[in-house]
Amino acid sequence: MARVVMKFGGTSVADMERIRNVARHVEREVKAGHQVAVVVSAMAGETNKLVGFVEDASPVFDAAEYDMVVSSGEQVTSGLLAIVLQEMGIPARSWCGWQVPIETSGVHAAARITNIPPDNLLSSWDEGRVNVIAGFQGIGPDGRITTLGRGGSDTSAVAVAAALGARCDIYTDVDGVYTTDPRIVHEKARRIEKISYEEMLELASLGAKVLQTRSVELAMVHKVPLRVRSSFDDPASPLQVKEDGSGPGTLVCDEDEIMEQQIVTGVAYSRDEAQVAVRRVKDKPGIAAAVFGPLAEANISVDMIVQNVSTDGYANITFTVARNDLRRAIEVLERERINIGYETLDTAEGVAKVSIVGIGMRSHAGVAARMFKALSEKGVNIEAITTSEIKTSVLIDEAFLELAVRTLHTAFGLDAA
Ligand code: ADP
Ligand code: ASP
Ligand code: MG
Repeated sequence: MARVVMKFGGTSVADMERIRNVARHVEREVKAGHQVAVVVSAMAGETNKLVGFVEDASPVFDAAEYDMVVSSGEQVTSGLLAIVLQEMGIPARSWCGWQVPIETSGVHAAARITNIPPDNLLSSWDEGRVNVIAGFQGIGPDGRITTLGRGGSDTSAVAVAAALGARCDIYTDVDGVYTTDPRIVHEKARRIEKISYEEMLELASLGAKVLQTRSVELAMVHKVPLRVRSSFDDPASPLQVKEDGSGPGTLVCDEDEIMEQQIVTGVAYSRDEAQVAVRRVKDKPGIAAAVFGPLAEANISVDMIVQNVSTDGYANITFTVARNDLRRAIEVLERERINIGYETLDTAEGVAKVSIVGIGMRSHAGVAARMFKALSEKGVNIEAITTSEIKTSVLIDEAFLELAVRTLHTAFGLDAA
């Protein structure tokens, strides 16, 4: 008997027929003799609709009330799945985040899970029930409902798996993690059999939204075996996870469990980028601190930074922030104008980031150069670059994004035969 956490995303619970399909996947694991907890997302589109209501109610809103509203989609699907399971003769009950409890920090809309006491879920298992848990939500230190940021049900699932000592299977609308987003590189993207936590973490944080970044971080820290697979596979199919860990989809695991290593494992992209240029600042100590200190205080993360120095003692500092932080970044920099002493402040939203990720980059020189050459051959101009041990990212004009992703996918030998 194993302990299993099964997570189903929005497309997988989009309507009653799909929820019945989910119940059949759950039934298969229960019949195999496992103790099962299920984490569900809201129906596809539901969370966006709820966010829309909040924004309609007021352009400036209380984040605690935002969480109250947007967490409701998961309450609906967890209850519905429990009902369908009961109807199939499988004892089950639903849990809201606060009932488990999934304890979190108090940062509404971006809370972090701090603790999940397993006792309630374990006693419910002892009584022979399947636990169906509303994803994305938790309870803050003041007893109010919190949410974990968009895509947060993945993180709920991994955290519950860590608390229960279970494996975690993420069921979604693709049959695994691919070498790039299959929606962009349709036929040529390939499913990856096994990927290391480190590479998955980079891919997720660089834009591959198949897993929320925090979920991969938690899986890595707590050594939760994490598998991404499709909920559209036949629930009764023999494609099941075997004792030796092999099975359908993609296994996210320790680097040393992977025999075959590519130099580049995947290509990720993000349109969630905006560029800010602070022009003609004095080229002297303290200026970068004057720009980035106030941004950090305002909780705005800065990503790619480029500084060009001219001969007359002035410099331009250009950097990127997440698109929905742009307005606040401008406010902060305008407020600090005299202190920083810049001449003009320019911004652009039509930029995108493309990244290559692979553990093999640690031991191979010239990978970034190959990337730049491939892009230049297609006439794609690079506006900024960042690198780390296992990734290189470039900022480009958003109009060239799909071309760049396809070009790099081919250049690094990732195309399916
Ligand atoms: P869910 O609702 O199940 O959480 P998401 O929409 O959040 O599903 O994540 C699945 C989607 O992630 C896929 O439909 C796919 O378009 C996208 N995606 C982006 N990059 C990748 C990748 N490298 N591999 C697989 N899917 C990816
Ligand atoms: N329903 C939430 C969202 O759309 C959480 C999730 O699906 O993971 O962001
Ligand atoms: Mg998701």
